[in-house]
Amino acid sequence: MEIVKVYERLLTEFGRQFWWPAETRFEMMVGAILTQRTTWSAVEVAIRKLKRKKLLNPHALANSNPQLVEAMVRQTGFYRQKARRIRKLANHLVEGYGGSVDRFLRKPWQELRSELRSLEGVGRETADVILLYAANQLVFPIDAYTQRFSRRFGLGDLDYEGLKAHFEEQMPKDLQVYKELHALIDELGKKYCKKAPECPSCILSDTCPKNLTDAIRPIST
Ligand code: SF4
Repeated sequence: MEIVKVYERLLTEFGRQFWWPAETRFEMMVGAILTQRTTWSAVEVAIRKLKRKKLLNPHALANSNPQLVEAMVRQTGFYRQKARRIRKLANHLVEGYGGSVDRFLRKPWQELRSELRSLEGVGRETADVILLYAANQLVFPIDAYTQRFSRRFGLGDLDYEGLKAHFEEQMPKDLQVYKELHALIDELGKKYCKKAPECPSCILSDTCPKNLTDAIRPIST
């Protein structure tokens, strides 16, 4: 089944996801770092606390007290590391761009991707999420849900860049579709395509190679 058909089915099943849930592009970038290895609900708490202390802008965060930021993001886990990383991001924006998120995100996307990846704690996935949701670039991030789904759905064992290229080749050049599909695959991963997949009730069960293989597997005696 083509990726675009998968998108249509998931959209019908789950509806629009309206990612990324953030009021500003800086908040989106901070959230992308905080969400590593934790739940979104923990990130929401941290974001609320940072907002209450008026720290969710580059100048304020760059000049903030490190211990205060650690306390704000504590529930997201690895809080010392994450506090340091979001403060470094803020510093980068202040020192290189006068604190202007727009100036930073306006760069050509390949250049921006390299620069993001040079920051502590920003790997390929985090950089690509920022490129898609904050910089509005046609870049498709590959997270753990997408990798798991792709492997089961018969896209083979492509590496990060291979899988990213595969999605980008198959999808219409439409920013909204990119943003929604990434979120919809995550929803599929949480509802059906879990570590232990719930194939019989999955919306893709009639077309997914994994489900079809399981269905014809002989019962062992
Ligand atoms: S049918 Fe099963 S393996 Fe395939 S996408 Fe759905 S839950 Fe995942």
